[in-house]
Amino acid sequence: MSFDIIKGMATTFKNMGKKPTTVSYPEEERELPPRFRGRHVLHRYENGLERCVGCYLCAGACPADAIYIEAEENSEEKRVSPGERYAQVFDVNLLRCIFCGYCQAACPTGAITLENGYKLASYYPEDMVYHKEQLLEPEGQSTIGSNTVWTEPAPAESAQPVPQEGKVFDGSQASAAAVGLGDIQTEEAVLLANEEQDEDRRTLESGKDWRKR
Ligand code: SF4
Ligand code: SF4
Repeated sequence: MSFDIIKGMATTFKNMGKKPTTVSYPEEERELPPRFRGRHVLHRYENGLERCVGCYLCAGACPADAIYIEAEENSEEKRVSPGERYAQVFDVNLLRCIFCGYCQAACPTGAITLENGYKLASYYPEDMVYHKEQLLEPEGQSTIGSNTVWTEPAPAESAQPVPQEGKVFDGSQASAAAVGLGDIQTEEAVLLANEEQDEDRRTLESGKDWRKR
């Protein structure tokens, strides 16, 4: 008996009494860690409106070019999201996706999260492109997914002013809440810390100072 066989048998006997590290899937399933990143879910607000405002930030942040969006304008007759736009088409190509979570991190409205769905096998590659209809929570269901595990709420002082229709900084904020509310105005103006720079921006168009209107 060669030394290699003795060594192999020793390893076998050493591990015989140990608990196996494998499970008998699919009869048995592992408990997933809280920060597990599985299949994407698109979320709704409690009033049924979709959180996604079709801003393309998730698609821009995706390193695998796995997200395809076609945005459409909301109208009074057809309001799908609280913002100006909603995603008419929202596809995630799970064959390209590397489950990095960048799309979730980039989303200003908490519309997309990576959840616990990991049973994603298919015989056909086209079935691995998940469409909005498959990703969106059903009507009457409103969750924020695992967002609470991933992100702490942004501190109030992190809100940034953004230029509005008049191309001036009128105090509207680029916070998640502001984007999610679309063009609904915020109550208090938030000005840039640099007064001189702020002054320049407020008087951009037609030389008007927005504070004197
Ligand atoms: S998890 Fe990463 S790779 Fe997958 S769609 Fe999101 S950003 Fe792209
Ligand atoms: S970043 Fe969020 S709101 Fe913007 S398109 Fe993607 S899912 Fe929709």
